[in-house]
Amino acid sequence: MLSNEFKEKLNIENVKLYFDEPMSLHTSFRIGGNADCFCEVMNIDALRKIISLCKEEGVPFQMIGLGSNLLVSDEGVEGVVIKLDGDFDEVTLVSDATIRCGAGASLAKACLFAKNNGLGGAEFAWGIPGSVGGAVYMNAGAYGGEIKDIAVVTRYLDEEGSICEIKGEEHCFSYRHSVFSDKNWIILEVDLALFPKNKNDIFYLMTDTMEKRKAKQPLNKPSAGSVFKRPEGYYAAALIEECGLKGTSVGGAQVSEKHSGFIINKGEASARDVLDLIKHIKKVVKEKAGVDLQCEIKFIGKKQQD
Ligand SMILES: Cc1cc2nc3c(=O)[nH]c(=O)nc-3n(C[C@H](O)[C@H](O)[C@H](O)COP(=O)(O)OP(=O)(O)OC[C@H]3O[C@@H](n4cnc5c(N)ncnc54)[C@H](O)[C@@H]3O)c2cc1C
Repeated sequence: MLSNEFKEKLNIENVKLYFDEPMSLHTSFRIGGNADCFCEVMNIDALRKIISLCKEEGVPFQMIGLGSNLLVSDEGVEGVVIKLDGDFDEVTLVSDATIRCGAGASLAKACLFAKNNGLGGAEFAWGIPGSVGGAVYMNAGAYGGEIKDIAVVTRYLDEEGSICEIKGEEHCFSYRHSVFSDKNWIILEVDLALFPKNKNDIFYLMTDTMEKRKAKQPLNKPSAGSVFKRPEGYYAAALIEECGLKGTSVGGAQVSEKHSGFIINKGEASARDVLDLIKHIKKVVKEKAGVDLQCEIKFIGKKQQD
């Protein structure tokens, strides 16, 4: 619960505030209890102000992107959930083949901008429903490409509120992991190094990628994409299917019939349902195949009772 005094102080220019906001409105899973405060922050000054206010007052804050890799607690999120918008939604050309993307811009926007400028290299990301910030945090990837292949410079806000930048290998990218996964830094913008390419060829590759997604993934149902990381030497979806778990449900959560690596929300799923289904999948896969599955999706919010 936020005090009325703190709520008053949150009235910062260029911040849109939503109190007791259902997080189900901000996640691709369509699951999640209320955040004490959800805010859309439009520029760097406003971001700095809100972060330092939270720190001064001892109120926790949580960054989110487009909520496409998140399972949010049924109990909601304590404190302030921050989403970047406004200036952070911009994508610009900074040199012949480098584009600068605000962390809040969608990958879709970045991919279209690249295509319209005749720049290839980002096509793999077409269809990943996240933001550029979320993609760097997660080192998102698909169809043979990863953000690590194109992200050359990332500017971020460190714990002291200073704007810093990292380049190339300093990102420490690995499978679904970056340096940001281990720090409390806020990604502000990212430079993506692309290369000149025929627009029709880019368009063809993007369309092909999307067709593959539509054929294999349950895109008509709320989900957070692949729930588990690819275990060394296996495919999570194939393992789950071989263990007879395809279609298994707990409450409103179900292992997708179309792609066993996805858990879908059939309509009224709770985070509890998803967590219980994950627990069941992990147990059965361990027992039958001897493999420990690790979650790719991130759980945020208040701890739920087991
Ligand atoms: C249908 C579907 C298909 C998908 N396909 C793929 C795929 O092919 N490949 C793939 O890799 N992923 C895939 N995903 C998962 C997801 O889209 C990616 O992980 C994406 O990169 C998450 O971005 P986001 O903006 O939604 O981040 P969120 O889910 O909102 O957040 C993810 C993490 O990033 C952090 N974060 C976000 N923004 C910032 C910031 N500015 N500063 C600091 N931390 C930040 C959050 O705190 C959180 O820990 C899929 C998801 C769905 C629903």
